[in-house]
Amino acid sequence: MPSTWTQSLIELIRRTSADLPRDVEAALRKARRNEKPQSPARWALDTILDNVRLARARGAPLCQDTGTLVFYCEVPFRFDTRRLTPAIRAAVRQATGQGSLRPNTIDPLTGCSCAHNLGAGAPVIHFEFAQRRNVAIRLVMKGGGSENVSAQFSLPDTRLKAGRDLEGVRRCLLAAVAQAQGNGCAPGVLGVCIGGDRATGAECAKRQLLRLLSDHAVEPRLAALERHVLAGAQKLGIGPMGFGGATTLLGVKIGALARLPASYFVSVAYMCWAFRRRGVALGKKGNIKRWLYF
Ligand code: SF4
Repeated sequence: MPSTWTQSLIELIRRTSADLPRDVEAALRKARRNEKPQSPARWALDTILDNVRLARARGAPLCQDTGTLVFYCEVPFRFDTRRLTPAIRAAVRQATGQGSLRPNTIDPLTGCSCAHNLGAGAPVIHFEFAQRRNVAIRLVMKGGGSENVSAQFSLPDTRLKAGRDLEGVRRCLLAAVAQAQGNGCAPGVLGVCIGGDRATGAECAKRQLLRLLSDHAVEPRLAALERHVLAGAQKLGIGPMGFGGATTLLGVKIGALARLPASYFVSVAYMCWAFRRRGVALGKKGNIKRWLYF
């Protein structure tokens, strides 16, 4: 019999896999309204929204690609994290057995499927201590196709005429979207980090995907850049699934980390329309007290 912790995490995985969060679905509906009737873009968004409805009704995975499972665990100070890793791994094992997750994790040396989606570094689990009473766990399922069009730039970039400033960052972000050309299953969302090193920048960029689509960066220059890049991306006309249209991106979320004088990285985590993100706050015994995204 799985522990209450594991049971709660199985439910988190099941719901994340089958039920798109409200803000993402609302953004897709808005995008559909903005496309011309009977256009390929409208048709693509109708198909996506049908898919969303069917997955929710049937409790079936939204996409055949399980994606990389990334768990973000926020725990109170003095919480013993040793109990969480086995609970998360047990939940992934069982959710795979139950069909909420397709077996989709590959051993890079043999090319064989790792049993139950468990492998070296899979799932990805981040821990963070915080001034809080209970444990909060957020899950992002990051599709492989969208990961393929994620990018990292090192400024200055003469090819893009991108210098070490926010205009240079803007050029990089639009270049990443133009290069994707709808691959990675547009309309997507950009998680971005300015600065850091190659590893922390990529991690910070992905972490931006925890933010709601409706929010804005607290730092006004980053908030302005978010708006600017979103507007610029829509003008590219790439559209849903690259069919052309008014909506190429659903959102842009930018964070920043300190950097060294020698380097200026711009890291981009491209998320597809199947933006599976959910979270739970858990009670002392691991019971679900509250859902963090609706
Ligand atoms: S990129 Fe996203 S929508 Fe496209 S196949 Fe992968 S998970 Fe599915």
